[in-house]
Amino acid sequence: MDVVQLTDSLIGFDTVSPPGNEEECARFIGDYLKDLHVEGSSVELHRFASKRANLVATFRGDSPGLLLAGHIDVVPPGDNSLWKSPPFEGKSRDGKLYGRGAADMKGGVAAMLTAIASARRRRLKRSITFIATAGEEIGYDGLRSMVSSGKLQGVAARCGVVGEPTELKPVRGHRGSIVSKVTIHGKSAHASAPDMGINAVEKAVLYVEKLGPLRRELAKATDPNLGHSILTPTVIAGGTKSNVIPESCTITLDARVVPGIDRRTILDGLVDVAEATQKRDKDFSADIEILYETYPLSLGPKDQVVAIAERITGTPSTIALYATEASDYQKLGVPTVVLGPGSIRQAHIYDEYVEVEQLEQATSIYGRFIDTVCT
Ligand SMILES: [Zn+2]
Repeated sequence: MDVVQLTDSLIGFDTVSPPGNEEECARFIGDYLKDLHVEGSSVELHRFASKRANLVATFRGDSPGLLLAGHIDVVPPGDNSLWKSPPFEGKSRDGKLYGRGAADMKGGVAAMLTAIASARRRRLKRSITFIATAGEEIGYDGLRSMVSSGKLQGVAARCGVVGEPTELKPVRGHRGSIVSKVTIHGKSAHASAPDMGINAVEKAVLYVEKLGPLRRELAKATDPNLGHSILTPTVIAGGTKSNVIPESCTITLDARVVPGIDRRTILDGLVDVAEATQKRDKDFSADIEILYETYPLSLGPKDQVVAIAERITGTPSTIALYATEASDYQKLGVPTVVLGPGSIRQAHIYDEYVEVEQLEQATSIYGRFIDTVCT
């Protein structure tokens, strides 16, 4: 099976998350790797929910080597009738392979598997670890479940590549994101007698006004690769009816953060804002929670994995706007770049495609990574 056929086969599994249903696809990849009959290899399915699974495979060398990783879930196809060909059937035309996940990122996963297959008869001085994760598109739940259950403790790799679509240009950094929610409590009353209640919408406005110092503080948190951190209120929702004093109002905030700023920093900052607001208005009361966190990735141009990626691709590394699982691997002690076939502009759209030439180039790039790091 070549890389195009393999991408095509992976596209054939409907792994839209939610709900995911990645187990069948993960089993298929597991069978593909077992069929390589590499001595000393292990292939393990990690089920973490009904019909949901990650896959971890290790090809042993004498010491830690290379991590190749990607996700196997995809975003929903939307209205099927708006696709020129069915989203879960890979279709080749004009040097492109179409289908949901072609670029993001079953193409990258297929190129990694094909590179591993080509290296199967090589003697590995250092090991290759391959990880296919579920649920990347919905908050990394597959990867995070492996981390929390200790499955990836001591993952034997000195560096890693996540094959998200970067048009084969190495990405060495991106900010992390932290989404938080502030729920402001009021007291309902008839709108004709507002003094009988506490207007949660008005209190929310006070809170937003008090965000200034925290936002300025975050703007001072900078990183040489990524710039500064940002906090922005993005959704505000409150009230039920025009003649009722709203008893609840929520503010959702999106933070884009550099290393050193984490959920604790944001939570503490938002609590401080609540205390400052309460000093101004004793009726103010709020609950604050962090809904979601992805970590920043920050490698310098001189880091070894970045240097290898630049040398192999002949392309300088860049910084991306989107977040990836590479930062989770970095947190596990594996410096990881993002590098894969296809364009991020193709991700999540109708008629998603990956260029066949990029699939082939990606396969040879991953092969050269294996040569450089493991043989
Ligand atoms: Zn992706």
